[in-house]
Amino acid sequence: MKIAVLPGDGIGPEIVAEAVKVLQALGPLFDLESAPVGGAAYDLTGHPLPPATLELAKNADAILFGAVGDWKYDALARELRPEQAILGLRKHLKLFANFRPAICYPELTAASSLKAEIVGGLDILIIRELNGDIYFGQPRGIRTSELPLFKGTREGFDTMHYSEPEVERIARVAFEAARKRNKKVCSVDKANVLETSQLWRDVMIRIAKEYPDIELSHMYVDNAAMQLVKAPKAFDVVVTGNLFGDILSDEAAMLTGSIGMLPSASLDKNNKGLYEPSHGSAPDIAGKGIANPLATILSAAMMLRYSLGMPEQADRVERAVQKVLSQGLRTADIYTEGTQKVTTVQMGDAVVAALI
Ligand code: NAD
Repeated sequence: MKIAVLPGDGIGPEIVAEAVKVLQALGPLFDLESAPVGGAAYDLTGHPLPPATLELAKNADAILFGAVGDWKYDALARELRPEQAILGLRKHLKLFANFRPAICYPELTAASSLKAEIVGGLDILIIRELNGDIYFGQPRGIRTSELPLFKGTREGFDTMHYSEPEVERIARVAFEAARKRNKKVCSVDKANVLETSQLWRDVMIRIAKEYPDIELSHMYVDNAAMQLVKAPKAFDVVVTGNLFGDILSDEAAMLTGSIGMLPSASLDKNNKGLYEPSHGSAPDIAGKGIANPLATILSAAMMLRYSLGMPEQADRVERAVQKVLSQGLRTADIYTEGTQKVTTVQMGDAVVAALI
């Protein structure tokens, strides 16, 4: 099994090193090859996604990705910014389905900003469409306005766009995922205002007929943002477009105590995937050895399950993470009184030691 390892920027190399350590501890199962991506790649080659990195990602069975971005690249042209690497990988590899589980481990309820009874035992899955929506719709740009009220001033514009086939395929992914869980899908849109959302909703209703065992509900995105903090356990699978999913999945992340705990997977139609923590490159704590590597380690577990066909190994890694949490080990982001604060490397070592 060939895994492309793309550590990226900020805390990326620190947390990916721990996930690699865990994968290697499972045995000589993987051929791991690293390549630069994001700001690190820009510094080396002048581009955030150099051809050699893209080639490696294309030829691998799965991709383990850290994070990209740093404020020092903010002045670069948009197409050269580190974040373009992740958008480019999603596009070139046709990764259209983003899985972001939000699980609140019983040991971490105290780290959540919400009351324990609201988040304790939370286990929801947000599925975000990744290839369409306002992030890719054309036309887009900044131009001089022709509107009478604003004539002569600069205006920015983007196009929200979804075609039926794009919604159909993400709908099927969501219904299939719900089949393996609690058989409920909540589709989030803004159909009261947006034409794109009306089409989204129509297609969801049509595809739902192929899945009579799954309960489909609909919610406007503003209400979904409220319900996620009011009664998050009422959800099972949430499916939504690229823009709404971007925001809601971060909101869901915070329910669990720390974004440092949340893995993610972005899959193509054959279940080849890119696996990365849900958080960014956290430049504010990079190099300090305090980043939480568990989201990346859990992303590696998702990789074993979804792309590499190794569910027992995925279970082993997830059980090991659960064990270190019950041993009371915590990185700074999830630390509460009475637990033991550890560094990034110590946390990785503890997970390796807990593998059985
Ligand atoms: P961020 O997710 O990097 O950080 C937000 C906050 O969470 C920070 O306080 C950070 O210290 C903390 N945090 C994040 N991951 C953590 C971890 N593993 N352990 C402990 N604390 C953690 O978001 P941001 O600060 O808005 O963005 C920083 C950079 O990351 C930007 O350049 C942004 O564009 C980029 N970014 C990249 C990705 C990606 O690579 N997929 C995603 C989001 C943001």
